Amino acid sequence: MSHSLFLLPGDGIGPEAMAEVVKIIDHMNEALGAGFVTEQGLVGGSAYDAHGAAISEDDMAKAMNADAVLFGAVGGPKWDAVPYDVRPEAGLLRLRKDLELFANLRPAICYPALANASSLKPELVEGLDILIVRELTGGVYFGEPKTITDLGNGQKRAIDTQVYDTYEIERISGVAFELARTRKNRVCSMEKRNVMKSGVLWNQVVTETHKAKFSDVVLDHMLADAGGMQLVRAPKQFDVIVTDNLFGDMLSDVAAMLTGSLGMLPSASLGAPDGKTGKRKALYEPVHGSAPDIAGKGIANPIAMIASFAMCLRYSFNKVEEADRLEKAIANVLDKGIRTGDIMAEGCTQVGTSEMGDAILAEFKALSA
Ligand code: NAD
Repeated sequence: MSHSLFLLPGDGIGPEAMAEVVKIIDHMNEALGAGFVTEQGLVGGSAYDAHGAAISEDDMAKAMNADAVLFGAVGGPKWDAVPYDVRPEAGLLRLRKDLELFANLRPAICYPALANASSLKPELVEGLDILIVRELTGGVYFGEPKTITDLGNGQKRAIDTQVYDTYEIERISGVAFELARTRKNRVCSMEKRNVMKSGVLWNQVVTETHKAKFSDVVLDHMLADAGGMQLVRAPKQFDVIVTDNLFGDMLSDVAAMLTGSLGMLPSASLGAPDGKTGKRKALYEPVHGSAPDIAGKGIANPIAMIASFAMCLRYSFNKVEEADRLEKAIANVLDKGIRTGDIMAEGCTQVGTSEMGDAILAEFKALSA
C-alpha cells in the first residue's frame, strides 16, 4: 500500500530542515518497506519567484490529493514588498483554507535533557507532555463584521466578531476527545463563559459532545485566563487542552515556550474525515518560520520538522510504533548531549543541521533493529 506525501519545503531554513526528513523517509522506504511516495512543490517566496503566486494551482491540486502535506516554512526579507495577496504566508493560508484544516494540534513536550533550558523550574517541566487542540478556521479571526469605521468625531471604532456555530465546537471537541483516548484520556476545555456568549455555547456543546459520545474521557472546564495561569504554574496537570482560535493562539505559544527553543516545536493541522476513506486531510509543519538570519548556514535545528513528520506517521498513517521510535530517537540524541546552536548547553557537542539529522536517523535505525 502506498502513502502519498506532498513536500513543500518553502523558503529560508525550510528546505534545510526538510532535507533531514527526506533522509528518514528514504530509509523507511528502503529498510522498512514503508511505501511512501513523495512529490515536491513550491510554496511561499520560492513559489512567487517561479509562478508569481504563493502557491501554484498545480501544487494546490497535489496538496488536495495527497494523504498528507509536509510543510517547511515561508517568508523572508526578499519578499517583504510583494503584493499582499501573493505574499509568502498566503500560500499557507490558502492550504489551510482549501484543505479545511480546522484542528490545529500543538504538542508541548519537554525532553528531559532540555528541562534546564525552560524558563520554568526544571521539576515543573521535566517530562511535560501536553497537547493543545486549537480551533483554526473560525472565531474572532474570521467572524464578520470585521471593520474599522470612522465615527466622524475624531474617533474610530474597530470591530472584530467572535462567532462559533454548534458544528464547529462539536467537531473540534470530537478531535480532542479522540486524541485524549490515545493519551492519558483527559481533556480540559478552556473558554470565557463568564463574559462571552461564545464561551457559554462552547462550554455547553463540549459538555454535550462529551456526554453523547466520549463519556469515557475525563473532561474538565477552565476559564481561559485561569488556564493561562495554570499552564505556567503547574503545566503537568494537563493532558489535552481544547480551545478556540484566539485563546488557542496564545495558550499554545505560552505552552510552547515552557519547552525551550522554537526549533523544537512541531504541529499538525487536520481536516474532517473523508466520507469514503475516513482519512483526514492533514498538514504537518514546524512552528518556527523561515529564520532568514540563519538560513543557508547549515545550522538550523531540524528537530521541529522531524517531530512534525513523527506526528504525520502517527496521525495520518497510524504508524504509531514508528512515530514513538522517531520521538525516542530525538530524545536519545538530546540525552547524548548532541545539540544545534539554538539549544546548545555547556558540556554538549554542537552540530549542524545535517549532523543532527544524521544522528537522529542513526538512533532511529538502532531503535528499529
Ligand atoms: P522565525 O521562527 O523564523 O525565527 C525566530 C528566531 O528563532 C530567529 O532568531 C531564528 O534564527 C530562530 N529559529 C527559528 N527556527 C529555528 C530553528 N529551526 N533552528 C534554530 N533557530 C531557529 O520567526 P521570525 O524571525 O519572526 O520570521 C522570519 C520569517 O518567517 C518572516 O518572513 C515570517 O513572516 C516567517 N514566518 C513563517 C512562518 C511559517 O512559515 N509558518 C511562521 C512564522 C514566521
